[in-house]
Amino acid sequence: MKGKKLKAVTAFNSEFQKLPHTHKLVVPGNHDWPFERQREAAIAELTAATYLEDRQIVIDGVKFYGSPWQPEYRNWAFNLPRGSLELKAKWTAIPDDVDVLITHTPPNTVRDMVWPRGEQVGCAQLRWRMEEISPILHAFGHVHGGRGDEMVNSTLCVNAASTDEAYKVVPTVIVVDIDTETRTATIVQA
Ligand SMILES: [Zn+2]
Repeated sequence: MKGKKLKAVTAFNSEFQKLPHTHKLVVPGNHDWPFERQREAAIAELTAATYLEDRQIVIDGVKFYGSPWQPEYRNWAFNLPRGSLELKAKWTAIPDDVDVLITHTPPNTVRDMVWPRGEQVGCAQLRWRMEEISPILHAFGHVHGGRGDEMVNSTLCVNAASTDEAYKVVPTVIVVDIDTETRTATIVQA
């Protein structure tokens, strides 16, 4: 989302409204100030999607869980100190049986490298929890240069960043098929 004011949510919502998908989920991140500073008003403004902030929704039997937090990154929204108990508690709250985990931050060392510094900024505590619960799919963004996919044990991890490092919008979205019987996820479009 662009902008720190409530009208940024209004603009985002009207774009989102145009998308034809039956179910749309929104998990905010470090750029999405209105959801931290004017939480109730921002959520009320988001009529075109279901807002997930540390909560689960079940759609057609598939359990989705979304969380916006990331290890402290500059002075941005939804920051918590890296390695802190507060951040760990956010990940502990993820239910054990989640099928699709959506977080803003990547787990540590999975598609989380910031170029050109080579620093891997993903969350180690999230990585631990993700491996413990083994969702079918773990989708995240945050580190734009890490866009792409990688398997961690049986979980397909997808960095679905919609812009590149220079904040230029990438021309395609990543599409994933999920099979809850075999608990496998397949990239359909990258
Ligand atoms: Zn981010």
